[in-house]
Amino acid sequence: TAHGAAAPTVGRPHGAQYTAEAFAAVYGAAPTGTWAAPGRVNLIGEHTDYNDGFVMPLALPHTTLAAASPRTDGVLRLHSGDADGGIVELRVDALRPAPQAGWAAYPAGVVWAMREAGLPVGGADLHFESTVPTGAGLSSSAALEIVTALALNDLYALGQEPQQLARLAQRAENAFVGVPCGIMDQTAAACCTEGHALFLDTRDLTRRQIPFDLAGEGLRLLVVDTRVKHELGDGAYAERRAGCERGARALGVRALRDVSYAHLPEALEQLADEPAVQALVRHIVTENHRVEEVVARLDAGRTRAIGPLLTAGHASLRDDFKISCRELDLAVDTADAAGALGARMTGGGFGGSAIVLVEEADAPAVGAAVTQAFAAAGHAAPRIFEAVPSPGAHRIE
Ligand code: ADP
Ligand code: MG
Repeated sequence: TAHGAAAPTVGRPHGAQYTAEAFAAVYGAAPTGTWAAPGRVNLIGEHTDYNDGFVMPLALPHTTLAAASPRTDGVLRLHSGDADGGIVELRVDALRPAPQAGWAAYPAGVVWAMREAGLPVGGADLHFESTVPTGAGLSSSAALEIVTALALNDLYALGQEPQQLARLAQRAENAFVGVPCGIMDQTAAACCTEGHALFLDTRDLTRRQIPFDLAGEGLRLLVVDTRVKHELGDGAYAERRAGCERGARALGVRALRDVSYAHLPEALEQLADEPAVQALVRHIVTENHRVEEVVARLDAGRTRAIGPLLTAGHASLRDDFKISCRELDLAVDTADAAGALGARMTGGGFGGSAIVLVEEADAPAVGAAVTQAFAAAGHAAPRIFEAVPSPGAHRIE
């Protein structure tokens, strides 16, 4: 970092004190407060959030912390222990949504979105420290946005609910940063709770906290960060998104969410002369169905029984949505062959991370099998850690 500290260690969040001290070193005074927002994995429901569908993320123990103080002169100063380039200084009344490079667009975009919404937010000094791996499909961008949103919400007494902060952060990422993401990641960072997965309907934003007590049941959820990010990601996302919209139009529905699982065969028949769109529709409709099945099985206390749904979700992303890659396939196939209950890629695809549901006793062997398979295939070593369902964004000091 800019101040000589070691790089963040996965699984060991920087504390509030470390972050407050770093803030003081950068800005010359103690911060008013310190806030945290987590990264996430999505248990099931991939690419459904821009089709008005269902998702089921859970928060990671890895967090982005912000130490912050308000300013009375309309100046916004941003500094991150995980980014080079020193302090970024902006005027809040001069913020304009031009898709722009640079990490500071994420927090600056949140301030812009709040002001656009008529919220009385002024200047601030912010310093960030994070243990969320960036660009690993674990949503470090949403953690950065939501921790900023929560800090400003408190500093300026804006009175926004977590879901409203998520909406503002999504607007920031869409319109200010220029990334056409759905609402899942920001909602996960803002609304997840410890020991639960969050069942979210992305159409009406109704949510339900589903108890997900892995440790209590003798289970583990592993994250395999492949540490690869294949370039075609951004263009492919826009393409998939456009294909889904095309499918919805062809079927005469508002969004693919409105195609029921029971009517999938007819829908596919209707799309017979557009096989590429057909495959996208099949993924979205079966994926929404899998989310509902996962919820049903968890509600019935059958946590182990969600494993095959995870693996089926991976096959659908690989074969129909075509957004997997050989590293993700290798992680999933190896984990399943080594005795995992189920595994799937999580996040946008083309790299990033996979999740593996495994019996506690089998976790070391399954992890070792994946590491070995990567070495044998000549891939860089993956980073493997545990996803413990953790709290959403909160103030820590
Ligand atoms: P993901 O959200 O999956 O981690 P993204 O590409 O959406 O991947 O977001 C990663 C980007 O977010 C980084 O390249 C950087 O610009 C920004 N970012 C995330 N966390 C931080 C942080 N702690 N400090 C500075 N920038 C960050
Ligand atoms: Mg992101």
